[in-house]
Amino acid sequence: MTSSLPGQEPAPSAPPSAGVADAMSWKFNDRERPLPPVVPPKPEGELAEAAKPPAGATVLFDGKDLAQWNPSKWKVENGVVETVPKSGWLVSKQPFGSCHLHLEWQTSDQPPFKDGQNRGNSGVFLMGEYEVQVLDTHENNTYADGMAGAVYGQYPPSVNPIRPPGQWQYYDIEFHRPIFDAAGTLTRPARITVDFNGVRVQDNVEVLGPTNPPGRRPYKPHADKLPLKLQDHNEIVRFRNIWIQPLAD
Ligand code: MG
Repeated sequence: MTSSLPGQEPAPSAPPSAGVADAMSWKFNDRERPLPPVVPPKPEGELAEAAKPPAGATVLFDGKDLAQWNPSKWKVENGVVETVPKSGWLVSKQPFGSCHLHLEWQTSDQPPFKDGQNRGNSGVFLMGEYEVQVLDTHENNTYADGMAGAVYGQYPPSVNPIRPPGQWQYYDIEFHRPIFDAAGTLTRPARITVDFNGVRVQDNVEVLGPTNPPGRRPYKPHADKLPLKLQDHNEIVRFRNIWIQPLAD
């Protein structure tokens, strides 16, 4: 082996973090990946205070109208907004980057109950690219990285604190956007933390890239801010109390 002078070695590429290495050791939507244990959610009463939009937050939906969103067929009724299957996604007018996003969602408690990914599927797509899954995973098994609270296709929730369908589920998501240099090279991946019904299910995980099927894909450079999108997956899902606060990158 030849020696080289100090300073002449190429910079070693950093080894993947333990979380990334573990995620990469599983296939996309791997049925062999262990399902997270069911744990009790925090009582709704304990979440109410923190669910109020703080000063300076942008309220994206307060129960009244979709003024903060692009024109959509989604229905506003009784203080909630409900998907209209096959009508398209709900897309915010404003773009956002790193943020704290709060929202509450509810799947239908009316039969027929479908199975797996077809039971109350929607999703919170940060920057339109990075999904925190919305799905009725109460007594509904699917692949671990497609459960409610998953970073879809990458990280299952560490535990499953879901309430039964028909009840409100609370998400608080801290998102730090990916950073690209002027040449479009990724210099820092996105990171996501998710509190699901008051229980931390993602703890600052390093996002591997965009989350949409057909599988894991590398990052593609994009703007520093992009619209938030809520998914239409042909299922009835309701949302309420959606607000967002910018965070430092
Ligand atoms: Mg989804």
